[in-house]
Amino acid sequence: SEDFYRKADKLNAVGQLAAGLAHEIRNPLTSLRGFLQIMQSGRVNKEEYFDIMLSEIDRINSIVNEFLVIARPYQTSFQKQNLVRILQSVVTLLEAQAALNNIEIRMEVEARIPLVECSEMEIKQVFVNVLKNAIEAMPHGGVIRIIALLQESGVLIRFIDQGVGIGENQFPRLGEPFFTTKEKGTGLGLMMCYKIIGDHKGEININSALHEGTTFDIILPLTDGS
Ligand code: ADP
Ligand code: MG
Repeated sequence: SEDFYRKADKLNAVGQLAAGLAHEIRNPLTSLRGFLQIMQSGRVNKEEYFDIMLSEIDRINSIVNEFLVIARPYQTSFQKQNLVRILQSVVTLLEAQAALNNIEIRMEVEARIPLVECSEMEIKQVFVNVLKNAIEAMPHGGVIRIIALLQESGVLIRFIDQGVGIGENQFPRLGEPFFTTKEKGTGLGLMMCYKIIGDHKGEININSALHEGTTFDIILPLTDGS
C-alpha cells in the first residue's frame, strides 16, 4: 500500500481506484435496478426485496463514505489532541457491537501520553476502522486489548485481537483498495488508514498469526515541544 501512493504510480493508481470504485458501485446499482424492474412488472412484490434493496443502498453509502477521505482537500487542520480521549470515544461507540459478539475491550493506557498534533476526525476514523476490523475478526468473542505507550518515535497505539488472523498470502494485499475477505466488506478501511496515517507522517505495523490473532500498531510522531 505504501507503494500504492508512490508518486510514479500515482496516475496509474488513480485509474485503478476509479475503475474499482465504478465496479463496486455498479454491482449494487445493477441489483437495485433488477429488483425495481421485477416489482414494476407487477409479477411479484415481496417484502424481502425491500430489505435487499435497503442493504444495497447502505453498501453504496458506505463505499462513498470511505472514499470521501481520499477525496478530501489535502489541507486538514491539525491540532494538539489527546489520543486517549479519542480512543475512549471510539471504544464507547463500538462497545455495544463488541458486547453483542461477546467481546470485552480492555484499555491499558500509560499515565503520561503527550498531546499529539493531528486531525481528530481522521484519527477517529482510523481507530474506528481498526477496532471494527478487530471485532469483525472475532466471531466467537474474546478480548481486545488497546494499549497506549509513549515511545521514542512517538505515541504507540496498539490493538491486540484474538481473532482469525491474516494469512501470509493476504498480507501483501492489506491496504489495497477493495481487498476484502468479508462477505459485506468494502476493502477500503485499511487503505483509508494508510492514507491518513501517512498524512500524519506516522507508521502502521501489522503482525498476525493465523487463528491466533492480530496486533495492529499505529505510531504517531511527536512534534517538537510536545
Ligand atoms: P473490510 O473491513 O471492509 O474488509 P479493510 O480494508 O478494513 O476492509 O480490511 C481489509 C481486510 O484485511 C479484511 O477483509 C481482512 O481480511 C483483513 N483484516 C484487517 N484487519 C484484520 C484483523 N484485525 N484480523 C484479521 N483480518 C483483518
Ligand atoms: Mg474494515
